[in-house]
Amino acid sequence: MKITGMLNMLKSPLLAMTHGYIDGQWCEADSKQTMPVVNPATGQKIAIVPVMGRDETTRAVDAAAKALATPASIEQRSDWLAQLADLITEHRAELGRIITHEHGKPLQEAQGEADYAASFFRYYAGCIDHLKPKPLADRPRNHSWTVYYRPAGVAALITPWNFPLAMLAKKFSAALAADCCCVVKPSSKTPLSMVALFSLIDKLKLPHGKANLVLGPAGEISDVLCEHPAVRIISFTGSTPVGKKLMADTAPHLKRLALELGGNAPFIVFEDADMDRAVDQLVGNKFRGAGQTCVCANRIYVQHSIADVFAEKLTAQVNAIKVGNGMDDGVTMGPLIDRRAFDKVKRHVDDAIEHGATRLTGGVPEEPKANAGNFFPPTVLRGVTTKMECVNNETFGPLAAIIEFQTEDEVVEAANRTEYGLAAYVFTGSDERAARVISQLSFGHVGHNTGSGPTAEAPFGGMKHSGFGREGGLEGLHDFIETQSVPRP
Ligand code: NAP
Repeated sequence: MKITGMLNMLKSPLLAMTHGYIDGQWCEADSKQTMPVVNPATGQKIAIVPVMGRDETTRAVDAAAKALATPASIEQRSDWLAQLADLITEHRAELGRIITHEHGKPLQEAQGEADYAASFFRYYAGCIDHLKPKPLADRPRNHSWTVYYRPAGVAALITPWNFPLAMLAKKFSAALAADCCCVVKPSSKTPLSMVALFSLIDKLKLPHGKANLVLGPAGEISDVLCEHPAVRIISFTGSTPVGKKLMADTAPHLKRLALELGGNAPFIVFEDADMDRAVDQLVGNKFRGAGQTCVCANRIYVQHSIADVFAEKLTAQVNAIKVGNGMDDGVTMGPLIDRRAFDKVKRHVDDAIEHGATRLTGGVPEEPKANAGNFFPPTVLRGVTTKMECVNNETFGPLAAIIEFQTEDEVVEAANRTEYGLAAYVFTGSDERAARVISQLSFGHVGHNTGSGPTAEAPFGGMKHSGFGREGGLEGLHDFIETQSVPRP
């Protein structure tokens, strides 16, 4: 089917059409309404996509519910997952180009995101045997027992813009492994990566309705996903306020939720740490995606005795970051996603300086111009204290805020003093200290002498207001399966 008349500046073979995908067909919005996709590095419209609503979402859920009636074997699912991993790898360069155009991150980083996305499909293709029926070894109650892992039902997968491809890959790989049928709703800011992924999914010739894509602002789409009785699980990655709203909206319908929400990561450097390594790891962790990652350091706690040298080394490395359009050679950090994100980072910097922090590098950011990018200079602040907004809220931007501490007890207490519990990092030369500190930190992911984020093989997720449920690892399958126990005499 060829649909014409849609703006598509990317001329990508993966974006032959920029549409939704329902019941095995590409489709426009019933209303023919569209919305633009904007390149945050240039302010230019690069494509338009449909604005779908209640009717299209209902059709997508109905198609998914119908597809549930035809289960796929474990072998078939493993084959689909492996094929999709290979297709993503084959098209990594083009997927990276699309991600860079709609998100802004440097091309190499965007291609790395495609590899990361592929790794989830490959991982679940390899470990899907864990979902085979399990006979119990004993005969409790004088019966033989078998535990079956059934698909949870129709799964709604709602994703953010900061990893336009990978955040969906984490969910969709586990959902497909579990034989769920899915309705995907990507962020309105970055729908093109998802359209590109669906053009690869289309090649798999999945049964119609197995994977559906609806595009448009959350409102009506979310209402249907929360209310439709066939949707049994909503797996959401995004902000904590929206996660809470989904919890309230689904409560009357008693749906299962998996929530990957916001963070406020502490990055703790003790005086016995390998300081060069800590600085290297911090720069990689903090400025990836222009600081717009849920796992990036938001509060950098440095022990007082090493704070001067640490700040100096960090500033030198941050000064070497090259900001620009992610498609340009040598650029290591792109723009912020939009004007709102720019204003938030600026507000955090201004507030900190007003309350006594010192700017070590960054300079006063230039106001974004119309039809230009939302670039924010990588900034290091010292003398940051708990009074400041950047300590108490996720900045989600390229601001490294250094807070000094004296003792281990003090820093553990400070690190936990947040409602969030997603990622934390501890740098120390003492394994004993590391074990002691990590055991006291209420965060789902704690890097020990590394700024590394999650991997497909290990479960990742939050504590407290960072949500619940896990993605990756065998635990990542749990949200998408119903366990059924069958005793037989
Ligand atoms: P967001 O505003 O919460 O949006 C995320 C997704 O939810 C988008 O698809 C959005 O659609 C949709 N949405 C918005 N309002 C909704 C509603 N009322 N009901 C249902 N869906 C709704 O978050 P974001 O700005 O895209 O992402 C940034 C946040 O995500 C940060 O807080 C970050 O820490 C968090 N995050 C967490 C993880 C993790 O693994 N824990 C990973 C990445 C990001 P529209 O675009 O159409 O509004």
